[in-house]
Amino acid sequence: MSDQAAKTPLQAIKGTKDILPAEAHSWQAIESIAKAVFELYGYREIRTPVFEATELFEKGTGETSDIVVKEMYTFIDKGGRSITLRPEYTPSVARAVIEHRLYLEPRPLKFYYIGPMFRYDKPQKGRYRQFHQIDIEVFNEPDPGCDAEIVEMADTLLRKLNVTGTEILVNSVGCPKCRPAYHAELRSQAGRVEGRLCPDCQRKTQTNPLRMFDCKVDSCRALTRDFPDITDFLCEECRDHFARFRVYLDLYGIKYRIEPRLVRGIDYYTRTAFEIITGHEGAQNALLGGGRYDNLMKDFGGPDICGIGFAMGVERLLSVVALARPKEKFLYLAWMGEEAKKAAMELARAFRRQGIECLVEFKERGLKSQLGRANKLEASWTVIIGEDEIRKNKFQLKDMATGEQREAGRDETMALIKAAQQLLQGDA
Ligand SMILES: [Zn+2]
Ligand SMILES: [Zn+2]
Repeated sequence: MSDQAAKTPLQAIKGTKDILPAEAHSWQAIESIAKAVFELYGYREIRTPVFEATELFEKGTGETSDIVVKEMYTFIDKGGRSITLRPEYTPSVARAVIEHRLYLEPRPLKFYYIGPMFRYDKPQKGRYRQFHQIDIEVFNEPDPGCDAEIVEMADTLLRKLNVTGTEILVNSVGCPKCRPAYHAELRSQAGRVEGRLCPDCQRKTQTNPLRMFDCKVDSCRALTRDFPDITDFLCEECRDHFARFRVYLDLYGIKYRIEPRLVRGIDYYTRTAFEIITGHEGAQNALLGGGRYDNLMKDFGGPDICGIGFAMGVERLLSVVALARPKEKFLYLAWMGEEAKKAAMELARAFRRQGIECLVEFKERGLKSQLGRANKLEASWTVIIGEDEIRKNKFQLKDMATGEQREAGRDETMALIKAAQQLLQGDA
């Protein structure tokens, strides 16, 4: 049995998980807060398909990246095409911008998206093969003010989510003009210790030596510790861009640390790279990472416009965010007899139209049993409808918290519940 298969067809596939209702409210809260923040900065949602042509990621994410080399969910479809479940979002957005020529429209090219990504990674605590990202991208904005605004926006979002104890790391990874000299220097340094580097690093020496800094092997880390920093190799334009980026971060009062070994695991990055990390649970984990990719669109055969963005892992975020579940307020309709059932169903519709959550259960039970259900489900109110109530067109309205019960007509019941609901919402 292959390891991606579940033990039985009745278990979720390894590396995937169900998001159950008890957890879903946190997801919804994060999503709605993120959307609200992004829209404030002029971003708009873009939704692209979960699968794309494999070449898109080979070309975009990069043929030498770990993602493309080791982690893609690639398959041949029934039409013989090579298809890949997106391992990241940026290439899809770049493709959509080019395909729909969005760059010809007057709106700024600022996009956000929240959804699943897929990587055949080693499943471990907090890491899944279907995982979720909050992603933003900006195109055609070369100014470093944009880079600073993005970092400030990410910081604002984390604050709104009450995430504390974060640190912002920034770096510049240069451009195709200045990087070759740095690569050459890294190759020559690596050449001196080559036999002692891990096989992965030896491969990276040839393909993308910057990647050696991503290696988690201790002996590699020790060997590369004294290798030169990219910041000493930046060309004048990159140095200037990086300096102005930091001036604008200072303007926002954003605290950051320059981390010259922050290189990001994807081929297309140029100049600005950044991460926001958190020290929760003893280990330093990246909550969010991003950077500039000024040549991706051009390399795709699109217009020569630059890009920058970040991606944030929702599962990682959830491990450090504590969102209290708001108390649900709803009305339970208890009924006795077929006529009362009809009245309950109709009344529930009227309440729902007024924005009041209602529950009608369809199985006939005794009143005591129904009140027991309402208690167990933690209903805020119960409306009791029996033949007597229908005849008088008055209902018994019970406040489940106080146990108080009163008789009220339909409109009065509705008004009472609306008022109580507003009062409670005001409390929250
Ligand atoms: Zn440069
Ligand atoms: Zn290594």
